Amino acid sequence: MSRFWSPVVHSLIPYVAGEQPAMSDIAKLNTNENPYGPSPLALEAISKAVSDTLRLYPDPTARGLRAAIAASYGLDKDEVFIGNGSDEVLAHTFQALLNHEEPLLFPDITYSFYPTYCRLYGIEFREVALDARMRVRVADYRQSCGAIILPNPNAPTGIGLPIADIETLVREHPEQVVVIDEAYVDFGGESAIPLVRKYRNLLVVQTFSKSRGLAGLRVGFAVGQRPLIEALERVKDSFNSYPIDRLTLAGAIAAWEDRDWFERHRALVIATRGRLGIALQALGFVVLPSSANFVFARHASKPGADLAAELRSRGVLIRRFSGARISDFLRISIGTDAECDRLLAALDDIL
Ligand code: PMP
Repeated sequence: MSRFWSPVVHSLIPYVAGEQPAMSDIAKLNTNENPYGPSPLALEAISKAVSDTLRLYPDPTARGLRAAIAASYGLDKDEVFIGNGSDEVLAHTFQALLNHEEPLLFPDITYSFYPTYCRLYGIEFREVALDARMRVRVADYRQSCGAIILPNPNAPTGIGLPIADIETLVREHPEQVVVIDEAYVDFGGESAIPLVRKYRNLLVVQTFSKSRGLAGLRVGFAVGQRPLIEALERVKDSFNSYPIDRLTLAGAIAAWEDRDWFERHRALVIATRGRLGIALQALGFVVLPSSANFVFARHASKPGADLAAELRSRGVLIRRFSGARISDFLRISIGTDAECDRLLAALDDIL
């Protein structure tokens, strides 16, 4: 790598996203996308936006989408922040924590972008161990810190925290920002957005990539009281003042407003997850209780690396992570019933 750049760049350990192979005859259960895709109304809105004026810059305030999201919670549009995927919303959140005097806390097994962002932006962090059952224990966060970030449900375990625990955490850290990353919350978790009115230190981040089926568009948002959102706007405007493009804005508004599509398809994912969990247990897997659109499971005797390789050779992609307690686990996204049947047939063949 060129010596002209900062030494920090040389020492980065970037987050590596799951592979996106050409989609011929593959059951793609490796990146937690929505197997049903977005609402047809979103596709219609995007087509219409294509034929409108792409010549013009998009609305730098993403007003229509902020208003639609805010209205669902009885909030003001200025209490919503929009970004290019929740990854970007999180990036701006981390940037806003730059040079904090105390470390940022997050679980030792969690979304691996968190330590990556900390290294990139030079933010000190401390990892808090999950308990023996791989759960987040809120009491373990009673320590001095600059801020806290937790996914709920956690990733890649899929285990959700009750909203009462989130509220305890927020109440016990009145001088710290508590960020709750709710990328997977619509599949059985409890959202903390209703608590935003009550707590000035709570920021809740969500995405259109999972329950809204729009991972390809890249759109996510944060909800919080005005001073928190204003800071994120300031960071964003110092970086790129257009949060999302015209097509994304149109598609996301339509997807948000199609409540019926959203409810029907998240229910399908939840039902398939239940069936898959039972079938995996019957094949000898230990399956963690999931509130997400994936399951995290380990076979009682067969190593995770072998299983992943053998599944791959049968055209089934799942995700594995390295790390002391999780290297034998497979993270399996919930696909259609047919995709899950294909996975189960392949496992039956392997085991
Ligand atoms: N948070 C968590 C916990 C995730 O797993 C993901 C998806 N990889 C994201 C945020 C980012 O999702 P997106 O950028 O697609 O909104």
